[in-house]
Amino acid sequence: MPDRPAEPNELAELRSRLAEIHDLRRAQEVLFWDQTVMMPPGGGPVRGAQLTTIDRIAHERFVVPEVGRLLDGLASYEESLDYDSDDASLIRTSRRDWEKARRVPADLAAEMVGAAAEAHDIWAKAREENDFASFLPHLERAVELKRRYIDCFEGYAEPYDVLLDDYEPGMKTAEVRAVFDELKASLVPLIAEVASSDEDDGFMRGPFPIDAQHETSLRVIERFGYDPQYFRLDLTVHPFAASSGTQDIRLTTRYTDNDLTSLFTAMHECGHGLYEHGISQTLERTPLCSGVSSALHESQSRLWENIVGRSRPFWNYFYPQVQAAFPDTLRDVEQDAFYRAINRVKPSYIRVDADEATYNLHVILRFELEQELIAGTIALADLPEAWNARFEQYLGIPIPSDTVGVLQDVHWSGGGFGYFPTYTLGNIVSVQIWDKVASELPDLPAQFEAGEFGELHAWLRSNLYVLGRKFTPQETLERVVGGQIDAKPYVRYLTEKLGALAAA
Ligand code: ZN
Repeated sequence: MPDRPAEPNELAELRSRLAEIHDLRRAQEVLFWDQTVMMPPGGGPVRGAQLTTIDRIAHERFVVPEVGRLLDGLASYEESLDYDSDDASLIRTSRRDWEKARRVPADLAAEMVGAAAEAHDIWAKAREENDFASFLPHLERAVELKRRYIDCFEGYAEPYDVLLDDYEPGMKTAEVRAVFDELKASLVPLIAEVASSDEDDGFMRGPFPIDAQHETSLRVIERFGYDPQYFRLDLTVHPFAASSGTQDIRLTTRYTDNDLTSLFTAMHECGHGLYEHGISQTLERTPLCSGVSSALHESQSRLWENIVGRSRPFWNYFYPQVQAAFPDTLRDVEQDAFYRAINRVKPSYIRVDADEATYNLHVILRFELEQELIAGTIALADLPEAWNARFEQYLGIPIPSDTVGVLQDVHWSGGGFGYFPTYTLGNIVSVQIWDKVASELPDLPAQFEAGEFGELHAWLRSNLYVLGRKFTPQETLERVVGGQIDAKPYVRYLTEKLGALAAA
């Protein structure tokens, strides 16, 4: 072994600064969780101020020149380390974060936060009242601010690259476009072929008593790896997963007694939670202690929700339990009819309610429109028309109102351009990872039929979760599946699964 230089003082100093900033970020996350799960509504204004204060302090503490000097001082030590070591990854990733964070002036960042807060309620009202015109000025402002944000950066091939990089670091618009074009070319005809509207699945509208939904959700995710020692499951309006560290994972869900969506929501959020829980504890209280990107994160929620949770082996184990939990509704429903109902492909207006296949066309539509909005090749006032035309082209149904069309998502009101593509990238990656696991553990379907998911969880943990943010998303995927993002496995997965359903 070559002699390694002694650990420089700068490293301890950097670690301690980053740990404090990380603590602030996690406190922010817990306050946000509290706001949406626990807080009485009256606490809103003060909580907003508290979150803004923490955000500002964390940002200010990070972008100071001293952090840059520490990183510079550590350059030669970093060179001496193994690229894969925790310390080399910490220095490398923090340098990238620091250089990026410093480019955005504090006043622009604050203006973006303020505009988003203001636009949120206007958007919610516009959606409710089907009134795009009232939202238009706020959308114009959001786009204008994003263009100023893009101007803070240089050296990109397309302006949209800058926005994408916030959620999927290193990913380029041209790569996403190529992957999505390939997916779209297969999906549009596949959906037209397999979409069904005539099957009787009225039993999916319940009633499903809420207590039984909660018990069943817990029973499922406990088999996935949810452990009450480290996890919670609470109620919220818009489900999400949060954490204050690897040993404190907060999942949220919602229940309505006229559908069983909650089971899939619980599996989805559990997938996010298992990822955060599985990060190496050596990375705790560092900026490496989180999932590596939105798409990789979504690949895990989707893997557990769809590839596992909508599969036949899974239901061979769980259906009798679910049937017993909801006897009034499911007693006379055959497992096959239930399986078909939860995998039914049917074009619908709302993205979050879409099935596994059509979901991606909702995302591709938004990805295309976002690029045109940012480039200015489409006038914002014409957006509803453009949305409706393209929606009908891809999904074959006309949009009856902006409420279920262009106004349905919260993202644009908050300036969240660049986020949507990560949902479908996650679907694509989920199958790449699944194919890899399945090739190494061919016994998994038999294990699922016996209600065993531990080997799958352990594989994902030791090959992906443990890495946290040590590497870029591309490096991470390379390490897990031995290649880059590729739509083909996902297209094959959907074609086989949906083809079999349509043929039966
Ligand atoms: Zn998710």
